[in-house]
Amino acid sequence: GSKNAQRLAFHVLNMPGDQVRHLADAIISAKENVNYCSCCCTLTDKDICPICASDKRDHSTVMVVETSRDLAAYERTNQYNGVYHVLQGAIDPMKGVGVADIRLKELVKRLESGEVKEVIVATNLGVEGDATALYLRNLIKPLGVKVSRIASGVPVGGDLEYIDEVTLLRALNGRIAPSNQRNPEPKGKA
Ligand code: ZN
Repeated sequence: GSKNAQRLAFHVLNMPGDQVRHLADAIISAKENVNYCSCCCTLTDKDICPICASDKRDHSTVMVVETSRDLAAYERTNQYNGVYHVLQGAIDPMKGVGVADIRLKELVKRLESGEVKEVIVATNLGVEGDATALYLRNLIKPLGVKVSRIASGVPVGGDLEYIDEVTLLRALNGRIAPSNQRNPEPKGKA
């Protein structure tokens, strides 16, 4: 926000010159060295991010999130041991963001490799996140991969990065099929 920007600007103005140069170098180096993980598409300074490269993670479970900030939010829970896929956005027709504009091709490629057994859709709960979740369900189901959606606990319209760990965990543990989220089917039908 503008308040934070102003605070940062005053902070920088009060810093010694050499520290400011150091900070500027760090920003430039981040911009030049950070790219997308060639597996999960999160931001990283390596070809493969540390999570994708780890043999301690369960590579058969993939949580799909919108941004690297959402990934970081789930990592802070210390309870999720699977891996991620970062879409770098959500389907948003009003802003002209279509299925080709987010990292879906990369996800399908991972699913076709056969290693992934379950996908947890953790896009934000809101119009764009829900549309993306529905699209993902229709995309993933024919591939024979189990797909679920984070559920209760996350407020509608809430950005995942601002939600506390307990709420995120409740949402993760209470996940349901994406189709049942908004229009629950009568019991026994499913
Ligand atoms: Zn990765």
